Amino acid sequence: MTDVRVRFAPSPTGALHIGGVRTALYNYFFAKKHKGTFILRIEDTDQTRYVEGAEQYIIDALDWLGITPQEGPHSGGNYSPYRQSERKDIYRQYADKLVENGYAYYAFDSAEELDALRKADPEFKYGVHTRNNLKNSLSLSTDATRQLLEADQHAVIRLKIPSNESIEFDDLIRGHVIFDSNELDDKVILKGDGMPTYHLANIVDDHLMKISHVIRGEEWLSSTPHHIIMYRYFGWTSPDFAHLPLILKPTGQGKLSKRDGAKFGFPVFPLSWNSDNPEDNFIGFREDGYLPESLINFLALLGWSPGNDQEILSVEEIEALFSLEKIVKSGARFDIDKALWFNQQYIIKADNRRLAGLIQPQVALEGYIVTMEYLSEVCRLMKERVHKTHEIITNGRFFFVAPNSYDDATITKKYKSENREHLEIIAERLAQAETFDIENAIKGYIQDKGLKLGEFMPIIRIAISGSMQGPDLMESIHLIGAKASSDRIRTAIHHFEKIVTS
Ligand code: GLU
Repeated sequence: MTDVRVRFAPSPTGALHIGGVRTALYNYFFAKKHKGTFILRIEDTDQTRYVEGAEQYIIDALDWLGITPQEGPHSGGNYSPYRQSERKDIYRQYADKLVENGYAYYAFDSAEELDALRKADPEFKYGVHTRNNLKNSLSLSTDATRQLLEADQHAVIRLKIPSNESIEFDDLIRGHVIFDSNELDDKVILKGDGMPTYHLANIVDDHLMKISHVIRGEEWLSSTPHHIIMYRYFGWTSPDFAHLPLILKPTGQGKLSKRDGAKFGFPVFPLSWNSDNPEDNFIGFREDGYLPESLINFLALLGWSPGNDQEILSVEEIEALFSLEKIVKSGARFDIDKALWFNQQYIIKADNRRLAGLIQPQVALEGYIVTMEYLSEVCRLMKERVHKTHEIITNGRFFFVAPNSYDDATITKKYKSENREHLEIIAERLAQAETFDIENAIKGYIQDKGLKLGEFMPIIRIAISGSMQGPDLMESIHLIGAKASSDRIRTAIHHFEKIVTS
């Protein structure tokens, strides 16, 4: 294979949707697999859709995932600039060259005229069948065209699609694809303001940047015949194409949209996005408590499979196994339960200190003052019991503060006033436990007295943490401290008494 050079080419029109993240990842994996180059190119020629902060968001999202481009607006490279708005002057000459060679033409139709045509016929296409009756340099005389060009600064340049041809190519995922040229429209390639459209800028840059493979979402498949035609007109070899399957809604019906996150209650963006319009604010996987490696693993398998049933795959393993041939053609259903399962597995594997560092800001925000050692221990005890990092705080709140409510239903069933005295003694022994073993203070006493562990331990657990769920009780008491645990038991006894005597 020639040198593999792939690009991720997002337009900075808002937060990067999870589909875009997957496209970036697949490009990255492919580059890694073939020891190639992963390039970031910002396609910002459409000024009307430009959104402030969107480029930084893309950079931050790739950074968080650890997939740093080797070339790009922030990494530099031999083919810079990598931001299309800074390459504006390059494109015009290519559009002019196509016009000179009869492969493109000027069009003067106003937006109102085109709107009227579309209204009259919703199927209207500016193309093989209609262009000779419209206002352009193909239908008008050379003189009329020159006059209009002199008078009208806003003529656009359209690609002249050949008639009666079948445009064919082999997509590396979809196989052989055929388009009828008569069905294609003569796309605008240079706008009235001199800016290129996506189609021209995209292929000129792919050529100049020596892109070997174009790996992008299926929604671009219908643009590919136009691109193939342009490569031919320019006399360039086209890169190979691979169109990734759509990501479908959890129901399996239709494409996953950015609004589906709010609708189904899960993130569809890597990072949170905050804008002036609250309707456009979205929570990200990062802020929702996912680890980047789990999102990578989840997205890697959303449309690709290593060919066996191995599910937990490190980035290095995916890089080694990745191949375009194993990408599915059909849409891939977005299953948030699967994402949660992956996240749980990666949280369990994660280093306790790292987890502590991730949740520390929230812990501080909630007003709890604890050391990193303490927080790391909380993470060690809690991590098998959560799906998202912040659940270490919400499910393990008793590590930071005494419970303010208890599982009263269980207490009603299990607590007996005649046990009160024993519990008070256990609390007393615990208060002294600095000098002897905590386990002995509790379990030793229960056994010595011939009492039942099964009767006492649930009550002590509820006294310490408020509920029956939680990590190992003895380890929890160790961490909270013998004295603090003793106080909790004493406070709880009052509450339990009230419940059983009311
Ligand atoms: N700028 C296009 C996008 O926003 C790039 C499509 C392509 O990769 O060719 O997705």
